[in-house]
Amino acid sequence: MPGVGQPVMKQLRNNVIRAGLGALYFSGAHHLLRPLLSGVGAIFMLHHVRPAREAAFQPNHHLEVTPQFLRAMLAHLKSRDIDIVSMDEMHQRLVNRNFSRRFACFTFDDGYRDNREHALPVMREYAAPMTLFVASDFAEGTGRLWWTALEMAIAKADAIEVKIGGTPFRLDTSTSSAKQAAFDRLHDWLRSLAEHDLQREVAALCARHGVDQAAICRDLCMSWDELQAFAADPLVTIGGHSITHCNLAHQTEAIAREELTVSRARIEAKLQREVVHLAYPYGDRIAAGAREFALASAAGYKTAVTTRPGMVFRESGHHLTALPRVSLNGNYQDTRILPVLTSGAATAMWNGFRRVDAA
Ligand SMILES: [Zn+2]
Repeated sequence: MPGVGQPVMKQLRNNVIRAGLGALYFSGAHHLLRPLLSGVGAIFMLHHVRPAREAAFQPNHHLEVTPQFLRAMLAHLKSRDIDIVSMDEMHQRLVNRNFSRRFACFTFDDGYRDNREHALPVMREYAAPMTLFVASDFAEGTGRLWWTALEMAIAKADAIEVKIGGTPFRLDTSTSSAKQAAFDRLHDWLRSLAEHDLQREVAALCARHGVDQAAICRDLCMSWDELQAFAADPLVTIGGHSITHCNLAHQTEAIAREELTVSRARIEAKLQREVVHLAYPYGDRIAAGAREFALASAAGYKTAVTTRPGMVFRESGHHLTALPRVSLNGNYQDTRILPVLTSGAATAMWNGFRRVDAA
């Protein structure tokens, strides 16, 4: 059966990460590792910021943190005398090799409305700058947030019928654990598909289960009008996140280039401000590599962030369009892990103790 091992692997990796973060905290190893691994700063990655929800089935829960957890992280950084800076300021420090003080940036992907409702007020408490990476179709209201659509289809259904590699499957989705297993299976399968196959499969699933993808987009993402007002806040920077939120590495070079340049031009025209920072959609090894890093600089972005885990090191100044980030993952909202995250020990464990991972 194709892909049957992947949910198991995912669970295993999650367990290792969970045990690993706990072990790093309780052993005090993060204190010992800090001088070695903490680098000169960190770029934190967030998606949704909103109050905790009750539902048992929340397969995208890793993409949301509570305002309280965000506040705890900001308080932790302040207590460590770490500067919270904008992406422009970080860029300046890397280019000028100004490493006299450690810094942190806060970045929020996709352009969710809850970033305005729940993140901005907390950022204001700390006068902390934030960067929002906007996929232009999401602001347009036509974007396809297929991972949320998949969640909604499975949440409604008792079973999902789908053809994987030509073989029909009937996946049980009658309980929350069955829903989670089905989600993991379908999510991994969908991410392996070419973009049009992914969109076709998700559209078919949505049609069968009465899920409206455009409504999800309009419900969750800020419109151009809302972004205009949001971007006027002095703490806010708007960056690019492609047009359609596709896997750039799966596209031809011409389409990948267009995703980077047209989205940038569209945001600049709509918001009347320069867009010089980018986040690659998905941003992992299978969505952004050497070709995308070069395309991003050619498109005029001063910096581009991945989702590869890591701290920012002095050497990162030579890889400004391949910057790593530290995920504030909703599945690990335990304030005891905050010093582990800022020590660099957590991301070092994830990326095999590489300082720069830009190939
Ligand atoms: Zn994204």
